[in-house]
Amino acid sequence: MLTMDTVKISGKEISQQLRGELKKEIENAICFQKRAPKLAAVLVGAFAPSKIYVAAKEKACKETGIASQLYQLPESTSQDQLHDCLESLNLDPTIDGILLQLPLPGHLDENQAILHIHPDKDVDGLHPISLGRLLSGQPGFRPCTPSGVMHMLHETGVSMKWKHAVVIGRSTIVGKPMALLLAEKGADCTVTLAHSQTQNLPELCQKADILIAALGKPEFVRGSWLKPGSVVIDVGINRLGDGKIVGDVAFDEAFGVASAITPVPGGVGPMTIAMLLKNTVDSAKKRLG
Ligand code: NDP
Repeated sequence: MLTMDTVKISGKEISQQLRGELKKEIENAICFQKRAPKLAAVLVGAFAPSKIYVAAKEKACKETGIASQLYQLPESTSQDQLHDCLESLNLDPTIDGILLQLPLPGHLDENQAILHIHPDKDVDGLHPISLGRLLSGQPGFRPCTPSGVMHMLHETGVSMKWKHAVVIGRSTIVGKPMALLLAEKGADCTVTLAHSQTQNLPELCQKADILIAALGKPEFVRGSWLKPGSVVIDVGINRLGDGKIVGDVAFDEAFGVASAITPVPGGVGPMTIAMLLKNTVDSAKKRLG
């Protein structure tokens, strides 16, 4: 069987480059002589993975020159108390971005909480106003994971015009905004959005020039499903029983079939954090003039 030279797309390297550019901008832009950009991270409860994610985001802020403050609320926080916290952050003129770490404890309604983040500080891009701006092609914060994927594709020189992209997964946080970004004017992909009710997924994948897997099922997409030479972006993060982290694509099978593929870990994950930093810096620039 013919195998292809497959490029590993390093999200780690591309994100480091972006973070370096943001750091320089914070050091040099006149507006940031007044103060550094600032991110408020709100963490409710003690869900271990959320604590790790928030710590990673705070570390990334520090390394980039962004101030960050953690608001750690107890598991017993009520919906109203959470809303009060978010609204006080909306009113704080020194805060440029609010990150509400998800998932919230089961008794709290995430959609209701997100409505209490001011759209001008919605650096995760998940407020319905931000999503509406994306849908209607207006400027605004874009959700970090799909915008990180777009940044990766651009930086890797993947040409998107006239290509057929298949996105597997239709969540609000990844799949749906991903499909919209790929179909936007300028990217110009023709997009198919697949989900758990999609029939004949392997055949559909074989027609994808660009395949974005965001379904949350370990190594679900097999190498034999791929169109030779396609570009494969694996958003999935799945922890196996032995602690190993794998993506939604069987990486070893895909390598040699795809022309380029993102690894897990070290692919999309670091891009998500980098885009959160970028959104925070962009927000601060607007606020500080
Ligand atoms: P969700 O569980 O919210 O959505 C999963 C989507 O995949 C749903 O639309 C679901 O369809 C679809 N799906 C599930 N099973 C199948 C199947 N067998 N065939 C086709 N589609 C299927 O997940 P998220 O979007 O939040 O996350 C997806 C993955 O990406 C996870 O592994 C998550 O950990 C990872 N992730 C990674 C990030 C990063 O920074 N790298 C950031 C965010 C998420 P239906 O709607 O019909 O149920």
